[in-house]
Amino acid sequence: MHGWTHTIMNARLIKTDHPADHTLGFVIEVDEPFEFRAGQSCDLTLVNPPHEDGKGSTRTFSITSAPSESPRLMFATRQTGSAFKRSLEDGLLGMAIEVDGPWGSFVLHDDAARPAVLLAGGIGITPFRSMIKDAVERRLAHAITLLYSNRTQSSAAFFSDFVTWSHVKRNFTFVPTLTDPPADSSWHARTGVIDGGLIAEQRGSAAAPIYYAAGPAAFVKAMRRALFDAHVRPSDIQTEEFPGY
Ligand SMILES: Cc1cc2nc3c(=O)[nH]c(=O)nc-3n(C[C@H](O)[C@H](O)[C@H](O)COP(=O)(O)OP(=O)(O)OC[C@H]3O[C@@H](n4cnc5c(N)ncnc54)[C@H](O)[C@@H]3O)c2cc1C
Repeated sequence: MHGWTHTIMNARLIKTDHPADHTLGFVIEVDEPFEFRAGQSCDLTLVNPPHEDGKGSTRTFSITSAPSESPRLMFATRQTGSAFKRSLEDGLLGMAIEVDGPWGSFVLHDDAARPAVLLAGGIGITPFRSMIKDAVERRLAHAITLLYSNRTQSSAAFFSDFVTWSHVKRNFTFVPTLTDPPADSSWHARTGVIDGGLIAEQRGSAAAPIYYAAGPAAFVKAMRRALFDAHVRPSDIQTEEFPGY
């Protein structure tokens, strides 16, 4: 038995869009004040979903909007064809959703003297978008570097937000990389996976960074290996694994 109780809150779907290829963005509005820290997640349950497939109508999602926007919460997910996601894609505005949370300790550390290096694989960008937007809005002093890996640019959700914020926040560095770059010369940034070499390259002369990795399980596993290769201490690594991919 927990020594505490918490309330499941009611929310409604208010908007859907496509922030990248095969990616569904959606915004819900919670009926009451909802406090969370950038990087946290919550469990969403579709109350009366139009589609069902036996895998249940609850999923965990990282909140991709900033705390300042609450009680509106934005999420993003890859479209897999699951009944849960098809129900959201149908985008019945006003659809009832229950919110349980916020959960998790995948949040930016307090000590601004230590840089943050964020490693995002595909849809793993969701908690980082919240953290970076929050850092920009609250003028946090942390130096932040985002290494963002996608197959193609059109699959990289929120790409233009990071370009904008890299101009607004002095010590925010955006390092996108594509593993399946276009054959022509239209892509001018990095190509290839995030490996130990790329991670070591980002380390400045300041205090040792804290590293955050988020994405599908295979990505997080690859990042653990890359961080090991770059001689990063395990105690300086935080991870958020998205199961189901
Ligand atoms: C902290 C956290 C944050 C996440 N954030 C995001 C996000 O921002 N965007 C996003 O797209 N996805 C996120 N996920 C993953 C998400 O919850 C789904 O698992 C994923 O999107 C696949 O859902 P699906 O409907 O496409 O797949 P399906 O195969 O239809 O669903 C996956 C099924 O497996 C179940 N399941 C998953 N993991 C486990 C487990 N460990 N043990 C038992 N059952 C399990 C789920 O409850 C569900 O029933 C997050 C997961 C976690 C834990």
